Amino acid sequence: MASPQLSGRARKLALRRVFHIPAAIAGISLICAFIICGRCPAAPGRTVRIGLLSSRILRSIEVTSSGGTLLSSGTGKARPMGTRTWRFEAVGDTVKAREGGGPGAMVMPGFTIRGKGPSAVVRVGIGRSDARGYRGSIAVRAGDGRLVVVNWVPLEDYLRSVVPLEMPPSAPKAALRAQAVAARSFAIAAQGRHGRKPYDFCDLPHCQLHLGARSESPNTDAAISATEGQVLTEGGKPIEAVFHSCCGGATSAIQDVWGGGTPVPYLVSRSDLGPHGAYCRRAPYFRWQFTVSAASLLRALRTSKSTDPGTRLHSIQVLKRDDAGRATEVEIVGDKRVTVTGSALRTLLSRTLGSDKMKSARFAVGRRSQQYVFEGTGYGHGVGMCHWGAMGRAEAGETYQEILGHYYPGTLLGSIP
Ligand SMILES: [Zn+2]
Ligand SMILES: [Zn+2]
Repeated sequence: MASPQLSGRARKLALRRVFHIPAAIAGISLICAFIICGRCPAAPGRTVRIGLLSSRILRSIEVTSSGGTLLSSGTGKARPMGTRTWRFEAVGDTVKAREGGGPGAMVMPGFTIRGKGPSAVVRVGIGRSDARGYRGSIAVRAGDGRLVVVNWVPLEDYLRSVVPLEMPPSAPKAALRAQAVAARSFAIAAQGRHGRKPYDFCDLPHCQLHLGARSESPNTDAAISATEGQVLTEGGKPIEAVFHSCCGGATSAIQDVWGGGTPVPYLVSRSDLGPHGAYCRRAPYFRWQFTVSAASLLRALRTSKSTDPGTRLHSIQVLKRDDAGRATEVEIVGDKRVTVTGSALRTLLSRTLGSDKMKSARFAVGRRSQQYVFEGTGYGHGVGMCHWGAMGRAEAGETYQEILGHYYPGTLLGSIP
């Protein structure tokens, strides 16, 4: 689930942007009309750079291109790679390449591997058993004895990998199309979030999980193709269309979850209630409960200065909530009193007690004997589009434009600028 990089951004409302209409249906506060461009052409040749195996310290990798080409960055020379697996190894700031079983090795500042043909897949892994196939080309560079492996991939092919990992391909067509547009918008707006790294995005959920061509599915391919080149814009720029699994009944304004103080006009709190309850009510974790012993909770809280109440834990309670019901101020009392946001507490408990325990910051907490019980709704950070809500809305007959208009109010659907 993509999350934004917060920065000070002046965001002004565009005049033509919002068409708020008071909804007659109880529970739906606003709906938003879109200006639709129809079928917009994709920007030709747009490519994104994804850091592969980005959580690993890479000393060497294996690559199989099945008839592709190896380009040496030092000489610019190209040579066929054949069908054998090549091994690339970091040697200081250079890369040593050796064809599997072959006699000689080449040492260069870097290499680029191109598959055979535009739709070819190049397999990359630390070993052959964990290799994954990626479309586009693979650049291998080195620094301080570590490899950096970057997948240069056409944007639309990148989406084919990431969209089915965010939303199940069995989801209704309109929901998949909404996700395709959101993922495309995010992939353009959030480029450069890794600063000086030689790639735009990592291959982890921090950006969008990218596992290569094996994730592709005909249903999501069709949704990407049907919305080819379409993005949401605000003030003429693609938006950081963040999304999450299940809001539990209402999404939150970005500043209430990640702080930073700067509101973003299209990432405001939105009710996800319809005539029959929350649109995301079918999510398996729409309601959740998490019980933890007081001793374990105290141990977890003591791992961070911002949540450490000292040697004892007397109480923990929610003092403030945002408009969507997410805890924005949680009081922890022990030897001393500390306060923390619900989102920060969730991050801490995910790190210390397990990533699946506290599923959202939309919770209440109580004590039963020597245990603390957290009860909540929703899964994920709660900002932007709710995936289960999008699926519920699609099943209720909403178009992908209406779904996007609800979760990103005031934006325009247009072509890539
Ligand atoms: Zn990332
Ligand atoms: Zn929802």
